[in-house]
Amino acid sequence: MNIIDLHCDALLKLWEGKGDLSFRDEEKLDTNLERLKKGKVKIQCFAIFIPPELKAEEQFQVALDQVDYFYTEVIGRNEEMKHIKDWESIYSLQAHEIGAILTLEGVDCIGNDLHKLRILYHLGVRSVGLTWNFANLAADGVGEPRGAGLTSFGKEIVALNNTYHVLTDVSHLAEKGFWEVMELADYPIASHSNSKSICPHRRNLTDQQALALFQKNGIIHVVYHPAFTSSKNTATIADLLRHIDHFCSLGGVKQIGLGSDFDGIDEYIIGLENASKHQDLINELLKYYSEEDVKGFAGRNFLEHLPV
Ligand SMILES: [Zn+2]
Repeated sequence: MNIIDLHCDALLKLWEGKGDLSFRDEEKLDTNLERLKKGKVKIQCFAIFIPPELKAEEQFQVALDQVDYFYTEVIGRNEEMKHIKDWESIYSLQAHEIGAILTLEGVDCIGNDLHKLRILYHLGVRSVGLTWNFANLAADGVGEPRGAGLTSFGKEIVALNNTYHVLTDVSHLAEKGFWEVMELADYPIASHSNSKSICPHRRNLTDQQALALFQKNGIIHVVYHPAFTSSKNTATIADLLRHIDHFCSLGGVKQIGLGSDFDGIDEYIIGLENASKHQDLINELLKYYSEEDVKGFAGRNFLEHLPV
């Protein structure tokens, strides 16, 4: 069954590898081409993520360097990989092709400059999360004790996302900002978040947040990070199914998707260690849900809510 994965951090690892890592088959990449094929991934989102310890003035260049790895290593060296720069081109993917979408995790790298954000749109960024865990000029992340909402600049970014039909991603955003995004965003999603009712981690969503996203036609993409999946030391696929079950109980059966966070995590759900394992999750889901529902979780729900 074809998979759409809304979040991985392979670009960060490619950038850290300084050109030494091959996207095709590098073992160190949870998300490499061989593994995407084995896991039957049809569309993979690739996040631009800048390590927060980098100086502010260096960050935009690093974002561009990661975009360069996307263009040269991910797309350029693998004819099966097809860059999806606009939503419509998803429909023209051939059977042997895998779509690749650029996303931005935290707008720290643009400083206070919307030109830089537009440049990233022009290069193909189709989903923008305002923050990672900390605060920036747009908003506070979930790890920022202040817990403030959006700045005026953050609100301008959401408006620009709307204009360009770019998704506004609420994963990592502090709760006050989440509610402001619900007011402002035409196309909100959570690219990699689980349910706080099942696992009370700060990165997860409350039932009220999940209901608000469903009301706004947003998709919640469940994340394969053990710490967001189970309060125990380890997590299993069965634990991840409890999150999907819970979102279904809130009415979200048509608005659940997948956002692995591969290459952004160094601990794994047992049985979901890299992108080649997605079908093991699908097979487990098929024991409890109809094929139609599972196709929805695997990617069709996302396709049916594209911001076009
Ligand atoms: Zn993340």
